[in-house]
Amino acid sequence: MLIDTHTHLFDDRFRKDLPAVLDRAAAAGVERVVCLGIDRESSIESVRIANTFPLVVAAVGIQPNSAAEARPGDWEEVVRLAEAEARVVAIGETGLDRYWDRTPFALQEEFFAKHIDLARRLNKPFVIHCREAEADVVKVLRAEFAAHGPVRAVMHSFTGDLATAKACLEMGLYISFAGMVTYPTAQNLRDVAKEVPLDRLLVETDCPYLAPQPVRGKRNEPAYVAHTAALLAEVKGASVADIAGQTTRNARALFGL
Ligand SMILES: [Zn+2]
Repeated sequence: MLIDTHTHLFDDRFRKDLPAVLDRAAAAGVERVVCLGIDRESSIESVRIANTFPLVVAAVGIQPNSAAEARPGDWEEVVRLAEAEARVVAIGETGLDRYWDRTPFALQEEFFAKHIDLARRLNKPFVIHCREAEADVVKVLRAEFAAHGPVRAVMHSFTGDLATAKACLEMGLYISFAGMVTYPTAQNLRDVAKEVPLDRLLVETDCPYLAPQPVRGKRNEPAYVAHTAALLAEVKGASVADIAGQTTRNARALFGL
C-alpha cells in the first residue's frame, strides 16, 4: 500500500475526471491521498473533496505565496475548518519561499507562525513548503523545538541539502520526496534520500505538478506516487514493498490515519 501525502486535487486539471483519477490511485495500491489547500477557497474545496471521496483526507492552510492575497476572514475560515471538519488531518501547506517574490518575507513568517501555533493548539501535524529558504525554516523550527519539543511536521517535496535534512530529522520531522527525486539531474536529492532513515521517509506526488519519471511531462496524479516509491527503493537498496509499507506506516503515524 502507498499514501500520497501531498496533492492538490482541487486543481482545474482534475475537474473533469477526479473519480477516475482516484480509481487509478486505488488500483495502483494508494490507500490514502492527502489534499492540501493553498488558500481559503482551495482549503474549502479540499475539505469538500475529502468529504466526498473516502480515499481522500484534507489539510487546510494559506501557502506562503498566497499569503499576500489573503483577505480579512480568510485565516479565520482556515481555523474554522481545522477545528470543525473531522477529515482535516493536518495544517498546511505553510512555510517560507524566497524563490517566488509574491509575498513580503515578514508576512510569510507571520503566516508560518500562525499555522504552527494552530497545529500545536489542535494537536495536528503541519506541512512545510520550503523553497530557497532552508536556513529560515530551520531557524523557525529550532525555536519551536526549543520551546515545545519534537516537531510534528513534514518537509514536503524536499529539495534541500543533507545538513538541512539532518537538522529537521533531529527535531523529529519527516522528509517527503516528490517526483523531482526521480529526475536524472537530481543526484543530489537521491544522495540526501539515501541518508534519510526509513522510519522518517514519506512519498508524495505534489500533483498536478512535476510528474516523476517515466511519466514526466504528463499531468501528475496520485497513482504515479508508485514511481517515486520504486526509485526510492532502488536508492535505499530496499524492496518496493518495504518502501511502500514503511512510508505508509510513517504517513499513518504522522497524520493519525
Ligand atoms: Zn503543494
